[in-house]
Amino acid sequence: MGFVKGLRCRECGRSYPAAALHVCDYCFGPLEVAYDYERAAASVSRASIAAGPASIWRYADLLPVSAQSPVDLGAGFTPLVRADRLAAELGLGELYIKDDTRNPTGSFKDRVVSVALTKARELGFKVAACASTGNLANSVAAHAARAGMDSYVFVPADLEHVKIQTTAVFGGKLIAVNGNYDDVNRLCAELASEHDDWAFVNVNVRPYYSEGSKTLAFEVAEQLGWQAPDHVVVPIASGSQLTKIHKGFHELTTIGLIEGGDNVRISGAQATGCSPVASAFSDGSDIVRPVRPSTIAKSLAIGNPADGWYALQVARSTGGAIGSVTDPEIVEGMRLLARTEGIFAETAGGVTIATLAKLAAAGIVRRDERVVAYVTGTGLKTVEALGDSVGPMGVIAPTLDAFAALDQATLDQATRDRDAFDQGTRPQEGTQA
Ligand SMILES: [Zn+2]
Repeated sequence: MGFVKGLRCRECGRSYPAAALHVCDYCFGPLEVAYDYERAAASVSRASIAAGPASIWRYADLLPVSAQSPVDLGAGFTPLVRADRLAAELGLGELYIKDDTRNPTGSFKDRVVSVALTKARELGFKVAACASTGNLANSVAAHAARAGMDSYVFVPADLEHVKIQTTAVFGGKLIAVNGNYDDVNRLCAELASEHDDWAFVNVNVRPYYSEGSKTLAFEVAEQLGWQAPDHVVVPIASGSQLTKIHKGFHELTTIGLIEGGDNVRISGAQATGCSPVASAFSDGSDIVRPVRPSTIAKSLAIGNPADGWYALQVARSTGGAIGSVTDPEIVEGMRLLARTEGIFAETAGGVTIATLAKLAAAGIVRRDERVVAYVTGTGLKTVEALGDSVGPMGVIAPTLDAFAALDQATLDQATRDRDAFDQGTRPQEGTQA
């Protein structure tokens, strides 16, 4: 908080106070938090960060809020897991998984919401609100409960059942909307202008909210012993997370805590059924054309991504790429990560891992690079996406004879699936919910 200069337009550079503003009055460009990096560099050190709590709040000096009384469920400082078995399968060398399934409500959204609601409370808001594809809904409802704030959470009515239940349990006002995320988001933009006493985390306090994603870069650098990775792979929904990971590595470099943070190659991952940014990338176009999403990766199903253009520029300027994968490939990615590293990711994690596999096969993510894949949410919320692709090998009577009678070929099924993936073939399609 001490180093915030205010808000600044990402397009025309005009300055604004650090209030509940998100759009430039002059050019309608998005506003972003600006810091005094010279002063930050003089006072923030590796030691001062290490002395902080094992959560995002150890980086409070680089966040736009005061850490005096954060709205905190313990988000962040999740494990950075060395993934040698996955690396071997993908033909990569030094590979890590940033395991953000391990957040309080099971996704990286706890990082951004903790920052957003802390700022909202600072600004005097009593009500938290959001449009969500599910993970944000969980997190806003939980953090609002923690803060004693009222909450209004709007989600598409066809969301995974688990994400509805795991939001509603926190007792806020949950409203299901007949429409896709982009419809919900449009409704929320209208509601935000009618209810200026509500803190819409991804509308009027979005500049603060999105800063929480920088901690995904901060933690990776610190966990690598204050070194930058060579290449990271990040899922793209709105595109905000990818651009903030870029900003995070840049800031650590600017204030002298790491070297080479501006050389990190940043690649993006989308589901083919909602891949406006990946399409623009592969077309060599600067225009991110909105699409109507159709994918099992509902947490990434944003057809008109607010930060899509910026994500595209980051991938291009850093030498990264943006790939996309089909629904069956997403399920395979989830299963591959689970059986090699013991990490059960949601569909978005399947998107990241399957895209990583593709980029590795294409030689874009290289064996000589230190690579980090961001796995941003737990598979327990999207179990239905697995459909019949996994299950028991057989149902038997509780006797030794029955077990002995099990067909060995059936028991070998898991091994065959693995071989199939290695050979680049996929199991039968059409089994997903
Ligand atoms: Zn502007």
